[in-house]
Amino acid sequence: MKSQVIAAGCVFGLVIVAAGIVGIAQDKIEPAPKIVDPGPAGGPPSDAIVLFDGKDLSAWRSGNGEARWKVEDGYVQVNGTGNVFTKAEFGDCQLHVEWAAPAEVKGNGQGRGNSGVYLQGRYEIQVLDSWDNPTYFNGQAGAFYSKFAPLVNPCRKPGQWQVYDIVFHAPRPRAGGGVEPGSFTVFFNGVLVQDHVPVEGSTTAAAFSGAVPKGPLMLQDHGNPVRYRNLWIRPLN
Ligand code: MG
Repeated sequence: MKSQVIAAGCVFGLVIVAAGIVGIAQDKIEPAPKIVDPGPAGGPPSDAIVLFDGKDLSAWRSGNGEARWKVEDGYVQVNGTGNVFTKAEFGDCQLHVEWAAPAEVKGNGQGRGNSGVYLQGRYEIQVLDSWDNPTYFNGQAGAFYSKFAPLVNPCRKPGQWQVYDIVFHAPRPRAGGGVEPGSFTVFFNGVLVQDHVPVEGSTTAAAFSGAVPKGPLMLQDHGNPVRYRNLWIRPLN
């Protein structure tokens, strides 16, 4: 009995030593994860690039000059002056977007609170007032426009702030031709609506075929006074 206890103790000791060696080896291979201050709820975390902090559009441009959307009271509002683009370009990224459709409901379907968040200026996560507003499923809020409907519809009422948290991996050119699909994962008001769906073709003009390593983030002017605030991005490559 005594020898069994000693044997068990030895085995236990060896397991601890082995685990320690594995742990040390891992420390040598992998750097310690960087410390990131997550900031307040909704961020921005300390390592994010802030794209709009409620004050100005200095990180943005229009298609042909200065971005001219209306900035007031900590938000920016679509005003019919055209799409806006970030001056910087991004590839794989984590993106946080807060938006609100107009509190005063006008129009229906695609004509009600329509805007959009375009990764690389070409792959659209649809922004739409989807509170009691039927339209085609892959065109409602949280859809990868024209490709994938959201898994569920967690849209809040018009006028309320909505939150998108998007993980985007860009398609990549395949050696020998063709494109290796990228992916979208999207949380809408904290609810999973796109679960690692493939990103292959553009949701915009056919002129955007193939894959590019980086491109600007674009917010769509669809003629409806949609508001945005607290926009930040964490490049992943
Ligand atoms: Mg749109």
